[in-house]
Amino acid sequence: MIMLKQAVILAGGIGARLRPLTDKTPKPMILVNNRPFLEYLIELLKERGITEVILLLGYLPEKIVNHFGDGSNLGIKIKYSIGEVTFETGKRIKNAEKRLDKHFLLMYCDNYVPIKLKELAEFHAKQKTLATVTVYTNKDGIRKNNIYVDKDGFVVRYDRSRKNPNLNGVEIGFFIIDKKIVNKMPNDNFSFEDIIIPKLIEQRQLSGFKVDHRYYSIGSIERIHLTEQFLKPKKVIFLDRDGVINKKPPKAEYVKSWNEFEFLPGAIEALGLLTQNGYQTFILTNQAGIARGAMSESDLNDIHEHMKQILEKYNAKINGIYYCPHGWNEECECRKPKPGMFFQAAREHNLDLSKTIFIGDDERDLQAGNAAGCKTILVNSEKNLLDIVKSILKLNNNKRNVNYETLFNSILEKYTKSCKSRYLVLIGGCSQSGKTVLAQKIKENLIKKGIQCNIISLDNWIIGLNKRKGDETVRERFQYKKISEAINKLKQGKKIYPPVYDSKSRLIVSEKSSTPLYIEEHGIGIVDGVVALDIKDLRDISDFSVFVDINDEIRKKRLMEFYVNYKKYTAEEAKRIIVPREVDEIVIIKKTKDYADVIYDPEAYTSDEKSNKNI
Ligand SMILES: [Zn+2]
Repeated sequence: MIMLKQAVILAGGIGARLRPLTDKTPKPMILVNNRPFLEYLIELLKERGITEVILLLGYLPEKIVNHFGDGSNLGIKIKYSIGEVTFETGKRIKNAEKRLDKHFLLMYCDNYVPIKLKELAEFHAKQKTLATVTVYTNKDGIRKNNIYVDKDGFVVRYDRSRKNPNLNGVEIGFFIIDKKIVNKMPNDNFSFEDIIIPKLIEQRQLSGFKVDHRYYSIGSIERIHLTEQFLKPKKVIFLDRDGVINKKPPKAEYVKSWNEFEFLPGAIEALGLLTQNGYQTFILTNQAGIARGAMSESDLNDIHEHMKQILEKYNAKINGIYYCPHGWNEECECRKPKPGMFFQAAREHNLDLSKTIFIGDDERDLQAGNAAGCKTILVNSEKNLLDIVKSILKLNNNKRNVNYETLFNSILEKYTKSCKSRYLVLIGGCSQSGKTVLAQKIKENLIKKGIQCNIISLDNWIIGLNKRKGDETVRERFQYKKISEAINKLKQGKKIYPPVYDSKSRLIVSEKSSTPLYIEEHGIGIVDGVVALDIKDLRDISDFSVFVDINDEIRKKRLMEFYVNYKKYTAEEAKRIIVPREVDEIVIIKKTKDYADVIYDPEAYTSDEKSNKNI
């Protein structure tokens, strides 16, 4: 087994085909969903265990260097080898020779595929060639082939003009290269693809690692759009049908009509939960009953129509159904344990299978899921679909950290789809974490979009200092009942006059504000408060919730500054207030993170967002 820790990315070209996009921007910095494409590639490499990236630059190198620096923002080591714009690929690689590992991953800067790096390395070791290249099998013919891999895994033909009819795949980079190749390379200016690849083929030293997963590219303007769809963060679940969603018929029997279809306990609820939590769901099912004449395709479609109708009543949506109608002896590509249906669904919906979970119920499902590169979970007598879905949701609850852009877009998207007359967003989190700043920012951006928006600060319902005993928890300092009543009124379109709390004196200075608070029809109310997510009544009537989560050290520093600089307490006094409060924050408030749709850390993405603006 070889150790593959280093990736080398060819990122020095002018990107002539992408003009005018590349007039002032080097190709790898082209924005895809507002992030430079190269960021996605580096993230992919990091996830796959690569620890060092060497970027081979030529055209506008400073734009790339300024953005990525030493890579510490992305948690990976990034180094640069900068050459002339006129350097061809071979010279660029040769130029970096001294920094290269014994084996390294060589990539282009414009192709993305959820590469199975471990399998690639294993294949390379087994082939014992000096190099291995990744080849897209191109079963959907998205572009003309340019390479031929023989049955033993060796590349025997390579035709960059794509004219040879006798080819069986598309070369997409992701090479494993033995450094010996680079040592023997000349020092002059030459193309790696034109000179070295043919040589390797001739010496039977180039293997072809075939992948069925569709690759995505920014090689031309038309393709950037698809790539954008593909790289958009999304949550996807694939499901087997019989034995997962409905009761499995006995062996060699089939569910032939709707009256033979019986939902398994918890299945409807599970699918509803997935839809409500923003998951897309696809069913992939073997239905050999069709090949065996037990039922027709139209019988099957009829069953699925009925099934979808029932599910819709429970707000559960199935985004697509794929079935294999073939018998086991037909040797089709789609019958599980083969992964054909997975790749088809992924291609048709631009999905990343390495980020998809497949829930099945038998060994064939497990094999198919693994071959497709999905994470596979099986239901069994102890764990039904509902149990699995709940644990997936819980798991992902810890990972829903989003940047501001995603946060704002999710609010907007959910609002646009919602038919409610008044929409409610909750912003909760510990004190001094940045909730109010976030609420203001969202409000401003909503108003720019022409959406009426008001902020409802829960601080108005704090009990005044003069009415406290001093040992209240955060739940007692805020008047939960009054808050629920007030916000329910707002939701119904009524005007309210909340009490006015002065944070400096910590007193209620007026029982009734002079200006009313209301949410206009089709407007959005943003509830801003430490306890926003702790009040069940609010959670029940809200449409979207955010937990603002900031590093504790930063928060404590801010809290101290707030009391000392703004409220003019001495450091001692401030501590006396802050320390007991921390118990509240940790025991009560932090737990409300579980209720949030998304978690937002105002510090985590700032450098990222700033640099995006510079481009
Ligand atoms: Zn099939």
